[in-house]
Amino acid sequence: MESPSLFLVEERVKTFKKWPFDDKNKCNIRNMAEAGFYSVATGDEDADAAKCFLCGKELDGWEANDDPWAEHKSHASKCAFVQLGKKEDELLLLEYLSVIKQYMINETKRIAELAKEQIDDKAKSVRRRCLGRK
Ligand SMILES: [Zn+2]
Repeated sequence: MESPSLFLVEERVKTFKKWPFDDKNKCNIRNMAEAGFYSVATGDEDADAAKCFLCGKELDGWEANDDPWAEHKSHASKCAFVQLGKKEDELLLLEYLSVIKQYMINETKRIAELAKEQIDDKAKSVRRRCLGRK
């Protein structure tokens, strides 16, 4: 896991290092993080690349007046976080636990998927080596 605590809004806030908009804009860091996004920027060109911690939807091309919740909703309406439609501190405990549970399930799937790819690659190279010796 890159960061196991991205389900916490404060952890998501910390990921925004080069966000292009300031607090006066609707599309500010706080609103982004509250809508479930964390930054996946790797440099200046993709400074506004952000990803949902829960559904994994990645969006960029943000504008100063974008509403992060509305964008999240229109691009990933099935996201469990969007469907709750609440900030973290407004969530009921049970709702919050369900978000964390879903996050853990998604992360586990992602890690399993990565492991499977690695095993497939390994199997391919072993197969190639075996064939090469014949
Ligand atoms: Zn989402």
